[in-house]
Amino acid sequence: MLGIVTEETKAGGLGALIGLQEIDTKIVQALYRIEKAPEKEAISLLQTRLVVLDGDLSDLAGRRAPVETKMKELEERIASTSKRISEIDKALYSGTVSASKDLQAMSHEIDQLKSQKSELEDSELELMEAAEVFDQEASAIDEKQSELTQELASLKTALAVTEAEVAAQVAELQLARAERASLVPAAILATYDSIREHEGGVGAAEVVHGACGGCHLKLSATEMDRLHHMDPEKPVLCEQCGRILVP
Ligand SMILES: [Zn+2]
Repeated sequence: MLGIVTEETKAGGLGALIGLQEIDTKIVQALYRIEKAPEKEAISLLQTRLVVLDGDLSDLAGRRAPVETKMKELEERIASTSKRISEIDKALYSGTVSASKDLQAMSHEIDQLKSQKSELEDSELELMEAAEVFDQEASAIDEKQSELTQELASLKTALAVTEAEVAAQVAELQLARAERASLVPAAILATYDSIREHEGGVGAAEVVHGACGGCHLKLSATEMDRLHHMDPEKPVLCEQCGRILVP
C-alpha cells in the first residue's frame, strides 16, 4: 500500500513537475509576446515624435508672438494716423481756415501723414507675410500631429488586441497550472518555484540520456545513483545548474 502511494507521489509529484514546467514556459512565452510587442516600441517612438512636435509648435508660437504684438501696434498707429488725416482734411474743407499759409501747412501735414501711413502699411504687410509663414509652418505641424495621433491610436488598438489575447491565454494557462501544481507536493513546488525564479524560468529538467535537460551536462555516476535511490519528497538537484532533476 505504502509502495503504491510512493509510486503515485513520484509519478504525480515529480512527473507533474515537467508538465508544470511546460505550462510555466508557455506563460513566460505569452508574457514575452506582450513585453516585446513591436507596437510598444512604435508607440513610444510616436509619442516621442509628438512631444517634439509639441515643442516645435510652442517654439513657433513664441517666435510668432512678437510679430503679432508689432502688428497690433502698427494697426493702432495706422488708425490714429488715418484719424489725424481726416481731422485735418475736415478742417481744411470746413471753410474755417482762411489764411493761405495755414491752408498750405495743413495740406503739407496731410501729405506727410499720408506718406507715414503708407510706410506703416508697408511694414504691416511685411509682418503679415512673416506671420503667414509661421501659420503655414504651424498648420504643417498640426497636420503631421493628427496623422501621427491617428497612427498612435491604431497601434494602441492593435496592442490592446494582443494584450487581450495574451491575457486570455495566460488566464487559461494559470488554471491549467493550478491544476497541475496541486499534484506536486508543496515542499517540491516551493523549491521548484524558487529555482525557476533564479534560473531563467526553468526549475525542473528531465533527465535525457543521462544528461540534465536544463543545462545539458552529463550527470555524474553519483548523481545517477542518487536519482535511482531518491526519496520522492526530496528531489535531487542538478549539481551543475541546480534544477530539480526529473528521472
Ligand atoms: Zn543541469
